[in-house]
Amino acid sequence: MQALWPLLRFLPGNRLLVLAFHRVAREFDPYDPETPDAAHFSRQLDALGGFDVVPLGAGLTALQEGRLRRTAVAITFDDGYRDQLAVAAPLLEARGYPSTVFVSSAFVGGQNMWHDRLLWALREGVVGSRLDGVGLAEAVPASLGARRQLAGRCIAAVKSLPLSAREQAVALVEAACGAPPAPRLMLDAKELRELAARPGVEIGAHTRRHPILAACTLEEARAEVSGSRADLEQLLGVSVGLFAYPNGHEGRDFSDRDVGLVREAGFSHAFSSDWGVVTPGSDALKLPRVSLYRRSVLGNAMLLARAALRA
Ligand SMILES: [Zn+2]
Repeated sequence: MQALWPLLRFLPGNRLLVLAFHRVAREFDPYDPETPDAAHFSRQLDALGGFDVVPLGAGLTALQEGRLRRTAVAITFDDGYRDQLAVAAPLLEARGYPSTVFVSSAFVGGQNMWHDRLLWALREGVVGSRLDGVGLAEAVPASLGARRQLAGRCIAAVKSLPLSAREQAVALVEAACGAPPAPRLMLDAKELRELAARPGVEIGAHTRRHPILAACTLEEARAEVSGSRADLEQLLGVSVGLFAYPNGHEGRDFSDRDVGLVREAGFSHAFSSDWGVVTPGSDALKLPRVSLYRRSVLGNAMLLARAALRA
């Protein structure tokens, strides 16, 4: 399949395909099969062999100036996980690939993200623990597969709740399950500085607490957007000009109001999770990205080819 990539050199240029990743685990975890492991992520990076992999900020500038000779690729990660530093960074560096990491600043050195807390609570919880307190007439099952399914139902049940209600629901599940303390998954301040200093790594903002902005009040949303920029600039001592919307689907997860807040906060570019390729005509505060499929090599090849061919 990779033999086809050199053909991309002959396609019309000046488009930027921005890939979106989250975690990269050291090993494959059957409880969390959607998270790419190091070996899988390496194969995905190798599949980019036919593209110019460019730094996101510089790629956007080159796009505006019409200097991308063919479809270029930029690699982004959301949220700010520790395995970014431990697992993904060395694999990217070995290939000379730059990357941008969108960090939710309230989690730096703090507790795990809400969905990871639910996954852990259900994975490690005491068998038979009842979840009626969060409106699920269920008990923690014995098998790992059934636990994973229940975790999925819990995540779906609380995903769209306003921030404080979601926090409350997650804490209730944790208390009901009685799991031991979870390992820290998010970068702390020292690790984030270390990551930012690695070759080719750029840090962008991703709100403070990763709320669905569309579900926030105006003041909450403003504090989440501009606060994340202020937090990261203070922590890193550099200007942060790139932003990614949590969850990131326009209309459902963020609205025109939130785009206005991103502009007001001084970000130059913002990324959604809506599928597409960035062109010189794209709205700078609603730039599309692409997430690769977890398992399908053919699917990913077709996706990349489609992206390269798209006008
Ligand atoms: Zn995110």
